Amino acid sequence: MGKARTGFYTVQGETLTRTHTFCPKCGPGVIMAQHGSPRPRRSCGKCGYSEADKAPAPKAEKPARAPKGPKSK
Ligand SMILES: [Zn+2]
Repeated sequence: MGKARTGFYTVQGETLTRTHTFCPKCGPGVIMAQHGSPRPRRSCGKCGYSEADKAPAPKAEKPARAPKGPKSK
């Protein structure tokens, strides 16, 4: 019987995994450092494990469309 660790992550919902990620190698308790540039990724300062942030890229906000019609001031 293997312990399903995934259950641990779902306790707090998305908030937990989005803010901090525990190192899969060191286990819960060891928070991986979040790096935002140049590419989002996480790394563990304890064992050196690193992984790319799999979070989906935020939707590019489209600029407000100019209202149709003649541009008149
Ligand atoms: Zn680690």
